[in-house]
Amino acid sequence: MLINTPYDLVIKNGRLIDDTIVDITINQGKIVAIAPSLSHSAKQQLDLRGRHYVTAGWIDAHTHCFAHSPIYHDDPDLIGAQLGVTTVVDAGSTGAIDIDQFYALSQQAITHVYAFLNISKIGLIRQNELSDMQNIDPLLCQTAIAKYPHFIIGLKVRLSRSVVGDNDIQPLLKAKEIQKNTGLPIMVHIGNNPPDLDDIADLLRDGDIITHCFNGKPNKILDMSGNVRRSIENAIKRGVIMDIGHGGESFSFTVAERAKSLAVYPNTISSDIYSKNRLQGPVYSLAQVMTKFLCLDYSLKRIIDSVTQNPAHILRLPNKGQLQVGYDADLTIFDLKQEKITLSDAEGNTRQSSQQFMPLASIIVGQLVITSEGYQHDFSHQ
Ligand SMILES: [Zn+2]
Repeated sequence: MLINTPYDLVIKNGRLIDDTIVDITINQGKIVAIAPSLSHSAKQQLDLRGRHYVTAGWIDAHTHCFAHSPIYHDDPDLIGAQLGVTTVVDAGSTGAIDIDQFYALSQQAITHVYAFLNISKIGLIRQNELSDMQNIDPLLCQTAIAKYPHFIIGLKVRLSRSVVGDNDIQPLLKAKEIQKNTGLPIMVHIGNNPPDLDDIADLLRDGDIITHCFNGKPNKILDMSGNVRRSIENAIKRGVIMDIGHGGESFSFTVAERAKSLAVYPNTISSDIYSKNRLQGPVYSLAQVMTKFLCLDYSLKRIIDSVTQNPAHILRLPNKGQLQVGYDADLTIFDLKQEKITLSDAEGNTRQSSQQFMPLASIIVGQLVITSEGYQHDFSHQ
């Protein structure tokens, strides 16, 4: 007699962002079925009663979660699973010296962790990690990348005056050399100049990433007359990626609004979260950064794509970012809570939103993690 083994988890009556209602069956860490009214039996069942949204697991493409960085540190699960984020990408907290320790720590988290390797071997132990060119050791970088091919997914170069000192564009030229030998995308941080944004943008190619793309500092994407710089227009045409990287200092509502009026959109919405801006703002969570794009009147689909399929594609994360049979069972369950909230950008300017993203649970490789908000609503027992 054939014994009908139950599946690991069935999510009943989940609302997709196009408002269709589906059941999702999960087994051995994979999505095995998605359809209305499945009759699968499972060891664990979660009924969303058509009320709560379910999407592919959110991916935060710019975070800081190396516990031992003295300046930007956090815990992957506090910025990840606990906030409805199933994958976090650390943007250069560690260089080649600390990458072993970071890798070991990251494997203890429930949340998936990937890393951009800081081309400065010292990583973020201080603010000016690229002020001494001796800190860039291409061979050491390449050795680290070869050792962790499934963990290191790109190179990080922070290009602002406080980081590079007198070295201007030189660190990016070095990064380009390392890129030639590894093929990895480069994520550049932009802020105060020098180096000038035009010089930075001209060096970037298809797949490279500009983070802090809506910052309000001298290296913003807009020129003096409020138009998008020619260098940025050309970079976007070449396939250079625009990433939000909100952070404590790098998101301006004014820039974001002007960009939208010119039909310039980010490819990825990310937080640049770490303990300080998580606890004290203005970041708080990826969800709250996403809510700012509701204020900007972005469509729900555009916002969700920017934290799911877009980062999965850009960061080359196979089997992630889509709710499809055969994909990893990484999912985010959330509400769009109808409640007024005042939101602050990184320059102290505020906007009001009448609704907000409220993550209730993360499912990571089929494992359910209820967020504190999910518990408050007794979401697990509905
Ligand atoms: Zn950062």
